[in-house]
Amino acid sequence: MPNQPSRQWADATRAVHSGELKHSLNAPVTTPIVRASNFTFANTEEMKRWAEGRSKAYIYTRYGNPTLTVAEAKIAELENGEAALVTASGSAAISSAVLAVLQAGDEMIATRQLYGGSYRLMHEVLPRMGIRVNFVDANLEGVDGLVNAKTRALYVESPTNPSLRLVDLKKAVSLARKHKLVSLVDNTFATPILQKPLTLGFDVVLHSATKYLAGHSDLVGGAVAGRREWVKKAREMVIVLGGSMDPDPGYLLIRGLKTLEVRVRRQSESALAVARFLERHLKVARVHYPGLTGHADHRLAKRQMSGFGGMLAFDMKGGLAAARRFCDKTRLFLLAASLGGVESLIVLPKYTSHYRMNTAELESAGVDPGTVRVSVGLEDAKDLIADLKQALS
Ligand code: PLP
Repeated sequence: MPNQPSRQWADATRAVHSGELKHSLNAPVTTPIVRASNFTFANTEEMKRWAEGRSKAYIYTRYGNPTLTVAEAKIAELENGEAALVTASGSAAISSAVLAVLQAGDEMIATRQLYGGSYRLMHEVLPRMGIRVNFVDANLEGVDGLVNAKTRALYVESPTNPSLRLVDLKKAVSLARKHKLVSLVDNTFATPILQKPLTLGFDVVLHSATKYLAGHSDLVGGAVAGRREWVKKAREMVIVLGGSMDPDPGYLLIRGLKTLEVRVRRQSESALAVARFLERHLKVARVHYPGLTGHADHRLAKRQMSGFGGMLAFDMKGGLAAARRFCDKTRLFLLAASLGGVESLIVLPKYTSHYRMNTAELESAGVDPGTVRVSVGLEDAKDLIADLKQALS
């Protein structure tokens, strides 16, 4: 039996205790991995009850698993959601949730500045299924003019990857409500520690749990949280399309979630120190970090986030060649895709998340050829800054 939901707990406490099994004599302190693909019924009556939808019994791990239930309850509580679902990857969470909302003939409005894979889903794959996606900038200008009788959903990502611009989440909710659209937000960069979009009125929150939620670069996973109705529909899509999580990464996800609050707070502090250092460096043209007072969305960030996050990007003077020279010289910052782990990472979006984009698409995604994206880890900020200094010299 999972712990009772305790919304009065602070996030650090929820991260440790929410969703965990109730403790009794000889109960394990950590969540057991139920490494089983299928579950037994006591008798045919139990089987009949399941078939009639009258029982919540586990049947098969693609439908649900006791280890995954703990991860789901923890994420639901951290996001202030009625329910949550974990998936095989963030991309499985996004595609399953979007397909739970949309069908052929429908339209969706999405911000243009998205994770490259999400953009490809919306730009290339959904249109093949008869779903049209209209794109707007992160400032949401033009949404009113794009809504028509076929528009069903509004999809945003904040902060954006890799340009670190913010979408005004309250404005997104009010536009969605005005036009009766289902509102979805990718909360991967901010995590529920820094912003809780469901509390602001969003219907669905999405995550690449590969990133901060798990936090140790050792699994691929995703999550959907939100209103019970939408999480149920997304689960139905996962069951049919097959994007379910296995129990082993489920366990690692639970273990990672327990330290989410401390990690994200510390990474935010270090990222601010790194951003301030880069901002003053002569070889850096521009730093993209919402915690800097000069950032275009700094005031909005202060309003809608309780910290500025561990992600930043900067544009090197000298473009791609200078950015490559810098990246090839760092020692602590590892040259690797993904983000949100304990090791600090750098990537060139042009060669990773945005590799299939043409010049115009790169520009509208806010990516310069000399843009370096940084995921600040848990190393000491002084050591990180020393490494940046030598790599920039
Ligand atoms: N959303 C964001 C913001 C991401 O950065 C990523 C991956 O980089 C994804 C979604 C996709 O998640 P996954 O790689 O777990 O499928």
